[in-house]
Amino acid sequence: MRILTIAKEIQQQILEEKKNGKSIGYVPTMGFLHEGHASLLKKARKENDIVVLTIFVNPLQFGPNEDFDSYPRDIEHDEKVAQSALIDYLFYPSIEEMYPDEVSVKVTVQHRTDVLCGRKRPGHFDGVATVLTKFFNIINPDKVYFGMKDAQQVAVVDGLITDFNFDIEIMPVETVREEDGLAKSSRNVYLLEEERACAHELYKGLNLAREAALHGEDNPEKLVSLISNHIMNYTNGKIDYIEVYSYPELKPLEKVSGNVIIALAVQFTTARLIDNVTFLVHNDTN
Ligand code: AMP
Repeated sequence: MRILTIAKEIQQQILEEKKNGKSIGYVPTMGFLHEGHASLLKKARKENDIVVLTIFVNPLQFGPNEDFDSYPRDIEHDEKVAQSALIDYLFYPSIEEMYPDEVSVKVTVQHRTDVLCGRKRPGHFDGVATVLTKFFNIINPDKVYFGMKDAQQVAVVDGLITDFNFDIEIMPVETVREEDGLAKSSRNVYLLEEERACAHELYKGLNLAREAALHGEDNPEKLVSLISNHIMNYTNGKIDYIEVYSYPELKPLEKVSGNVIIALAVQFTTARLIDNVTFLVHNDTN
């Protein structure tokens, strides 16, 4: 594994690899790697000649009152995870390397951001799309891997790739969970002990709603109530949102049918957790 910190250097390396006919798989992360990230790396390893991992906590995608400074970081641990995933290049740039001057051009995302985390975190997906545009130009991958844990991010990046004509295939990867069902997340370390003990109830609530929808409940509001009652009964978390949309369009549904996402965000004392389920509801017309 080669560790590089300079954009021009990795760009040059990848160019050489491509000249030699190698396919490039790319996994963007903010580090503090866990088994969720590892499953993206594993899939990328299987499907490409060369695997590139980036670790960069991107200040552009954090709001002023968000956890940029306290976001967990552990590069030594991350290097070990990257080693054992047999990746070829780890690109770990500094903030100055990525943003040497005041940012003069930013990408603005117009669709799929007025709901879910996009509504709650104004500017977040502009920051994500801006940094990914840079990384896509630096790494020039054939395939890029994203976790469905951040399903809105997958939907937004799908739009970025199409609109900006990136010749990149997006590869969504299923959410990896703890044994009790809690979605693995770098932010789980901030849960208090008693919060960690009940955090799996978020996924349980989502599953109750999915089961209800698959058994014919087609009223989105009823699904939302089912989940919010469950979460309020079994956790002390404060519900930020619970929403139901078509996926990946993220359009409101009068009746739950077709490809559907139910997604939520819940604020605990010092950790805000997100999770979702996506599934297909068959009805008479599809
Ligand atoms: P992050 O470091 O949180 O920006 O995540 C980097 C990538 O890993 C994103 O595509 C995430 O969706 C993905 N990811 C994070 N947690 C999980 C998980 N539990 N299962 C699968 N993918 C995940």
